[in-house]
Amino acid sequence: MPNRNFLWLIALLLLSACGTARLPHLENVQFTILQLNDVYEIAPLEGGKSGGLARVATVKQELLRENPNTIAVLAGDFLSPSFIGTLKLDNGESIAGLQMVETLNAMGLDYATFGNHEFDLKDAALLKKRMDQSRFLYTCSNTLLVKDGVEQPFTQNINGVEQPVPPYIIHEFSGPRGQKTRVAIVGVVLPFNQQPYVKYLPVEETFRKMVRELEDKADVILGLTHLAVDEDLALAATTPQVPLFMGGHDHHHMGHYVEQTVVAKADANAKTVYIHRFTYNPATRMMRLRSTLKPINDQIADEPTTLEVVNKWEGVVSERAAKMGYDIKEVVMTATEPLECTETVIRSNQTNYGQLTLEASRTALPGSEVYLINSGSMRLDDRLMGDVTVLDVLRTFPYGGNIVRMQLPGAVLEQALRTSLVTNRGEGGYFQVLGAGAEPDAQGRWTVQGRPIESQRMYSVVLPQFVADGKEANLSFLGQYSYETPQALKGGVRNDIRDIVIAYMKTF
Ligand SMILES: [Zn+2]
Repeated sequence: MPNRNFLWLIALLLLSACGTARLPHLENVQFTILQLNDVYEIAPLEGGKSGGLARVATVKQELLRENPNTIAVLAGDFLSPSFIGTLKLDNGESIAGLQMVETLNAMGLDYATFGNHEFDLKDAALLKKRMDQSRFLYTCSNTLLVKDGVEQPFTQNINGVEQPVPPYIIHEFSGPRGQKTRVAIVGVVLPFNQQPYVKYLPVEETFRKMVRELEDKADVILGLTHLAVDEDLALAATTPQVPLFMGGHDHHHMGHYVEQTVVAKADANAKTVYIHRFTYNPATRMMRLRSTLKPINDQIADEPTTLEVVNKWEGVVSERAAKMGYDIKEVVMTATEPLECTETVIRSNQTNYGQLTLEASRTALPGSEVYLINSGSMRLDDRLMGDVTVLDVLRTFPYGGNIVRMQLPGAVLEQALRTSLVTNRGEGGYFQVLGAGAEPDAQGRWTVQGRPIESQRMYSVVLPQFVADGKEANLSFLGQYSYETPQALKGGVRNDIRDIVIAYMKTF
């Protein structure tokens, strides 16, 4: 991966009334921010080569030795999804991000904003519990908790004191002569995950209001944003006072300029981190920012305390998975091109990982004309590259499930395709499709094997039982059709989508 270095000189043209020339000389204050975003896995991926939060902990310690003025921030998406998060503790409570909270605590994370996946936790009380277990602070300017019909700030219990989640954090750094620099970090999240307990305030309006409010309270104002990049760029254009947006949600590293503002995102799962080194002069209010994208790989040692936590949870995962018949470390294939399962892509496009999954279904249960899977059952929200392990498959399909064979009248199949591929586009109910067209042909007709669907004819369709039972959004009408559930599939493969995909990957 190329190491991208950016060097920016940013002049904050905020000259005080008396003019800079008459101010006493003050030395620079230097500080460093380590940025992570979209982290679902605590241990390294790609067969151990890439990512791993114990390695990130080592990087943070190195940065602290270089400059004690170092903090680590996370731009959202970490409590979900993951395979481990779907497992239960001995007391019956869902693990639901506890593994991540404990690891980030050990790693020394300082601040986080919410991502859409934090609100995957359907139970607001469980989210609150995970927040209270966090030793880092949450900040978000545009979310409110809806409790008993009343909108109120989310709260986090910090050292026994119940505190509202603030719209921004002001972190004070000291220079060599005790001079202070107040750095504000404003959190914001896109209104993607609609939960009854979350109220979203408008992103741009709220963010701009906070920036105006901070102009007197802070020396440097930074964004910690969980937005799609276009929204980051638009926000950056309207708030030139903010020199840096530390963003998430996109999962691929990027660095953009908007005039003099920087929008930076690292790769998901800590395959890279951004390191932002600031030099600020309190007298002149001149700031210099150098941002470096650093790959996290097997060249970096594990930090022992964090590694202990990671190993504890990996032990839980491998033990539970072994009981289910899986060896999580087993490499099942090597992906020479990225297998695409990023949510924003796979919920509105046909992808190679979707096609691979359907080819696997066809191999295990041949003889049908159409193979379907709802993209929402593929919850990896990432791409797989290099060595693909059993754990990678488990985290793709954390809920598993049977595939079944249905006979559907052409008219119903057409209605299912149109509903899924048009109405459900962008949602988990969007199908990956094999054997049928993913869009109508030039004459506007839906097709199977290249021919228009005949509404009276019966078609043989293989799909997840969850969908066949009518449980997918807008597809409840499928629930009235019967299906068969083969127990043993070709080659003796167990009828579970995870086993089906693992068996198929091994044939490469
Ligand atoms: Zn996200």
